[in-house]
Amino acid sequence: MVKDKLIFNGNEKQVFSTDDPCQVIFRYKDVTTAFHGVKRARFAGKGALTSQISAILLGYLNDNGVETHFIRTLGDEREQLCRMIEIIPLEVVFHNRISGSLASKLGVEDGFKPSNTILDLCYNNDELGDPLINRDQAVALRLATYQELDGMYDIVRRSGQLLTDLLDRAGIELVDAKFEFGRAADTGAIIISDEISPDTCRMWDKETGERLDKDRFRLDLGDLVPSYGIVLEKLKTALDLE
Ligand code: 5GP
Repeated sequence: MVKDKLIFNGNEKQVFSTDDPCQVIFRYKDVTTAFHGVKRARFAGKGALTSQISAILLGYLNDNGVETHFIRTLGDEREQLCRMIEIIPLEVVFHNRISGSLASKLGVEDGFKPSNTILDLCYNNDELGDPLINRDQAVALRLATYQELDGMYDIVRRSGQLLTDLLDRAGIELVDAKFEFGRAADTGAIIISDEISPDTCRMWDKETGERLDKDRFRLDLGDLVPSYGIVLEKLKTALDLE
């Protein structure tokens, strides 16, 4: 497998083509952004941590029957080999607790524990601020079919539960998690694409309630890299890695 051209240069990741048209290389940057790119900073070592955490979580989903774009890690700890996908510009956010923008929207205290798990469908469009979208609107814009949306919801329910249980074993509470999807270039199946890490999920220490995720940056709490390091170490211990 040979790394070829830069085909996408995002805020926090780069994607390179390879000599296999169905495979790409993801490279995680040391940059963190929030509020749709309005707030931005560099944290040395962050890319290596989000890449390693994401590799563990995506690999865990693969191993437990949920298809993702992740294939394997590479020699450089900031890089991973992934399946090429056609992006579906939708996000599904899984909430075990109500935090962040949903807490503001519903007027409840941050961390409110709802009576049931909540799934929110959002239009992945930075210019519009990733607004909530409903199924009819998503189908009307030809972003996905109703059947594909059903499949995505099923994937999110299964993945949300698997990650909640894994993180619980690691002493971390999964508060919420954002999932993105694509159609795999090799099989056409809808699979989870993009990363799963403290950049895209809220993760709280089960004992202390301390935030171990991107809220450290959003809320100016400091210690972003050490917190991500704690998540990685706890996951390695829970899965008996290294
Ligand atoms: P909120 O709506 O409170 O901003 O985010 C809810 C959850 O989804 C959080 O875990 C957040 O990290 C994740 N999330 C939602 N949209 C985005 C996004 O555009 N980028 C990233 N990195 N995470 C997002």
